[in-house]
Amino acid sequence: MSHLPDKGVWTKCPACGGHVNQLEWGSIKKCPQCGSYQRLTIKERLTITIDDGSFEPISMLPNSDNLLKVAGYSEKLAEARKKTEITEAITVGTGSIDNKQCAIGIMDSHFMMGTLNTTVGDRIKQLYLFAEEKRIPLILMIASGGARMQEGIFSLLQMNTILAAKQQYDRCHQVSISVLTDPTMGGVSASFAFKNDIVVAEDQAQIGFAGPRVIQATSQEQLPKDFQQASQLFAHGLIDDRIRREDLRDYLGKLLTLHQR
Ligand SMILES: [Zn+2]
Repeated sequence: MSHLPDKGVWTKCPACGGHVNQLEWGSIKKCPQCGSYQRLTIKERLTITIDDGSFEPISMLPNSDNLLKVAGYSEKLAEARKKTEITEAITVGTGSIDNKQCAIGIMDSHFMMGTLNTTVGDRIKQLYLFAEEKRIPLILMIASGGARMQEGIFSLLQMNTILAAKQQYDRCHQVSISVLTDPTMGGVSASFAFKNDIVVAEDQAQIGFAGPRVIQATSQEQLPKDFQQASQLFAHGLIDDRIRREDLRDYLGKLLTLHQR
């Protein structure tokens, strides 16, 4: 193994299977061999998105868990919290990009696939209300498999709650931006993900409602290669733009500057 560097861990790229040293992934986590992006944690996303040290979290405790008393759910939550070291699938707060202040919510697919539950819904609602009070722009970086099954109807109700909060936020006439990252699916794509004033997607993100396997099995049709990809959504006019991860910070900085008021 003399060809390996002394430092760093080697991991296999999930897309191309190539062996990549951890140093080669870089902060944007892009495979140097095939160019595919790895999914990011909230911490990694913050590092590449906002000005150093500018993030101030809005501290919120999780809601009472497992209202429906679903077997095994409490254990799953505890396990997710231990694994990810975050309390729920979203962190909300304020920060600046290019010295422009904004409210920001970042979802994490590593926490129960970023699914929407009562706590996630509550946090997004609070973020809108906070941003309205401060009269600042708002950015939501979405990564979610949809509504969380274990909280049933309570998860689905969040779709509406968030839309009502967004409507209230509109009274302060500041811009709101969705950044759809991989994955943006299910009840999340069917509600608030597409409701912000500007909706852009990170390149390579999968965005849709039901997954391709379900659609293929139901429709019995061969799906195109780029099905549910950011590129396809952009080509069909469903999103305003698609951005490479390495350009995202500058892009958001420009949007905030253009919409400053
Ligand atoms: Zn690769």
